[in-house]
Amino acid sequence: MGYNIAIDGPAGAGKSTIAKKTAKQLGFIYVDTGAMYRAMGIFLMREGIDPEDEKAISEKCREADITIRYENGEQVVYLNGENVNGVIRTEQAGTMASLTSKNPDVRKKLVELQQKLAADADVVMDGRDIGTCVLPDAQVKVYLTASSAVRAKRRYQELAAKGESCDMDTIEADIIERDRQDMTREISPLVQAEDAVLVDSSDMTIEEVAARIMSLVKKQAE
Ligand code: C5P
Repeated sequence: MGYNIAIDGPAGAGKSTIAKKTAKQLGFIYVDTGAMYRAMGIFLMREGIDPEDEKAISEKCREADITIRYENGEQVVYLNGENVNGVIRTEQAGTMASLTSKNPDVRKKLVELQQKLAADADVVMDGRDIGTCVLPDAQVKVYLTASSAVRAKRRYQELAAKGESCDMDTIEADIIERDRQDMTREISPLVQAEDAVLVDSSDMTIEEVAARIMSLVKKQAE
């Protein structure tokens, strides 16, 4: 097993920014598991699947071949051979991912892929169930959170920077709804692992959060 760092938490807590930075500092591979659920959500949406139709999702998800490649140090997600990095970052893709990620067959398929990636590499993996289900033996586990207002503001700035039109209140409402879905689902709900360290980034800079994680890695090695 490689050295595994698991970062879980609600939408917009800064997981990917922090995970990417930590991976770079340590020379590890960054694995963004949300991107895989987003790719699956996009696939099911394109196929016209009703996100409430569990039977249809279970059947259709078998046809989605989701693979990860690393190109110029970036994670690229391929859906049936198509690079979907450009289409998975919308709020709609996030919502579709959240609705369809509660399906057990979707989870089984993507968790297997995630565990394979972590088996022989040193990784920083972020998501919702990494410390609890995907990598229960990870050497370092972090539960990264922030207030919903702070998270909405960050998401807003991220979308605005990309030129996507958005409204702060709608974003905060979407975030709260997505958290509710992710925290109350039956399989692998978003919950802090017993051995995860809670980091609330509401009043912390990116550098401070990254430094906190590096200190956890150092402490673990002692
Ligand atoms: O982190 P991100 O916003 O990209 O995740 C999109 C959705 O994918 C989440 O709201 C969640 O429903 C799902 N997800 C999950 N398990 C993970 C990562 C993401 O269920 N490990």
